[in-house]
Amino acid sequence: MTFLNNTQPTPDAPLPRHTACPGLLRIVQARDGGICRVKLPGGRLSVAQALAISAAAERHASGVLEITNRANLQIRGVRGGEEEALIDALLAAELGPNNAGADDVRNLMLSPAAGVDAQQRLDVRPLAEQLLMLLESNDTLHRLSAKFALQLDGGESLAMLEHHHDLWISALDKQRFAFGLASVPTEALAAVTAEQVPALVKACLELFLQHASPKHTRMRHLLEQMPIDDFLATLQARLPFALEQTAEVLAWRRPAAEPWAHLGIRAQRQAGWVHIGAAPVLGRISAAQLAAVAHLAHSALYFTPWQSLLLRDVSSAESPALLAKLNALGLLTDSALPLARIVACSGSTDCGKGLAASKSDALLLADLLAGKGTIDQVHLSACTRSCAAAHVAPHTLLAVAEGRYDLYKRDSSSAGFGRLLARNLTITDAADTLTAQPRTMEAP
Ligand code: SF4
Repeated sequence: MTFLNNTQPTPDAPLPRHTACPGLLRIVQARDGGICRVKLPGGRLSVAQALAISAAAERHASGVLEITNRANLQIRGVRGGEEEALIDALLAAELGPNNAGADDVRNLMLSPAAGVDAQQRLDVRPLAEQLLMLLESNDTLHRLSAKFALQLDGGESLAMLEHHHDLWISALDKQRFAFGLASVPTEALAAVTAEQVPALVKACLELFLQHASPKHTRMRHLLEQMPIDDFLATLQARLPFALEQTAEVLAWRRPAAEPWAHLGIRAQRQAGWVHIGAAPVLGRISAAQLAAVAHLAHSALYFTPWQSLLLRDVSSAESPALLAKLNALGLLTDSALPLARIVACSGSTDCGKGLAASKSDALLLADLLAGKGTIDQVHLSACTRSCAAAHVAPHTLLAVAEGRYDLYKRDSSSAGFGRLLARNLTITDAADTLTAQPRTMEAP
């Protein structure tokens, strides 16, 4: 069974969009072979699906998988001639969209702890299912770019609040959701009730598609041309209910998330139960590791936008032994370790755009920083595209040549990666410079 690829549209299907992003049905070539990206609803992968992906990655690819910063999973090193067999194996494991045109549009981020988080205002999973159904079943919305992304936030303490989403919706209390455009979930434009959220999302996305030119792939592009007040006024005119823009809503601020809560043991809202977070080194997990973790999970694994995974519904009594088993598999559960605080893109080894071997440089950097105290997060990017981090990290090492990097420090008054601290550093120089930096312990 193979879906029609979206390069072969049916008469009623939307025209194919040209995108360099991999998908489940669109395997994109890299230096190390094809990349097949599997989008996971809410980052969730059942044990059976994890075993199926693991087996497929070994059978049809290099056996290396990568957790993305949108909590999806991608299979690397897909062998030439085996693409269709891989896609069929993934579809048989029910990892595909409900129709071929809907693969790219499944970009809805939730907290990996949604439903069990101790601080959540409400369980957003039922609403998330409705929104995913809306995105997948509405052909008009399939014209959205593969990068266009939504966030549904239940107020969890484990939450990615650093990624800019084209549309975010955040629980203001148990009945209402605040929302905003092209930003992180902080200051709201207005609020709606929980029941009104699907209609709000549909109207927002249709309005975007109606006004966006082919060059406007993200909401921020449209808002550079269309004042946000005009967008809101047009949105209001399309809705059968009033957007709430009271002083209370406009003064609302999303409470801070708990930094580094994606690693280690955290209590769930259900007394006596915890979740355990663990990260494979630099976001890459082998097929064998994935299968081994699946055997430790009770029913599912939850992937996170920090390129890590979460095992949920673990009894407190069982948790120390499970943590030890994850460590024995080579996963990192201690956020104080330098290696747990470094992210790196594929680099020149696997990506034609890379100016440096960022993965191996990151391993060297972690070795050099070991024993020198807890550092702020460092992101090594082998070119300016910043594939490994959708946010600006506290420190960025941007490759300028093989083994050489410029170092930036996050700074809200500077664009891009932040303020330039030093140029053309070797990794040894970078370790020395980072060690000398004051530690802010900011969120990653
Ligand atoms: S950031 Fe650049 S070098 Fe790194 S994976 Fe992305 S495109 Fe390739």
